[in-house]
Amino acid sequence: MKVAENLAFIHEQIESACLRANRDPKEIKIIAVTKYVTTERAAEALDAGIIHLGENRDDGLLAKYEKLGNKPVWHFIGTLQSKKVKNIIDKVSYIHSLDRMSLAEEIEKRAEQRMKCFVQVNVSGEQSKHGMEPEKVKQFIEDLKTFSHIEIVGLMTMAPLTEDKEIIRRTFRELKRLQEEIEAMQLTYAPCHELSMGMSNDFTIAIEEGSTFVRIGTALVGS
Ligand SMILES: *Cc1c(COP(=O)(O)O)cnc(C)c1O
Repeated sequence: MKVAENLAFIHEQIESACLRANRDPKEIKIIAVTKYVTTERAAEALDAGIIHLGENRDDGLLAKYEKLGNKPVWHFIGTLQSKKVKNIIDKVSYIHSLDRMSLAEEIEKRAEQRMKCFVQVNVSGEQSKHGMEPEKVKQFIEDLKTFSHIEIVGLMTMAPLTEDKEIIRRTFRELKRLQEEIEAMQLTYAPCHELSMGMSNDFTIAIEEGSTFVRIGTALVGS
């Protein structure tokens, strides 16, 4: 399938989800997750009108960056080892996987401007999932007060691997609740207006529950 055809179908689904949730589709940004596909396929996504590209490994990002440069807005969405920060920091506009102080310290040290970060939260508590425990997020963000190179734009999560839509929905709802609590703290360095949640299999549920950035790989560019 052409990316443009997949994108048209995804736009339809976003619109229906927004109708159900009484939201404006303009609030939803699509990140095309290109980790499984070639640079050519990523370029096809840009031609189809995609603005945001997401990669989950530094080498994958660097390979595509070499060809596509700053044409897309780059998002780093995967687990990030501190020692890899220096490889990606001047190429990405957003990091979705801030989940520990040591990583925040490395970003603070390496970034030349304020890096837009999502705190990744392990809402479902699955052992295999990365992310911070929900109870620790507020204190973590308060502790970033003196960091002049980090802006907390929102929270990110991955839903548990399950067919049970209610469990998925509850995960997203929980993240939204936490996001609103942090937003209400009105910290200038942590506006926290955004929610990065929803992938190929669950983005419509995520949108119904308030997502502003959906990260779509398989359903958009393929696997
Ligand atoms: C791979 C990946 C996605 C996209 O997954 P699909 O199911 O292919 O849409 C989204 N977010 C993260 C963090 C990923 O690693």
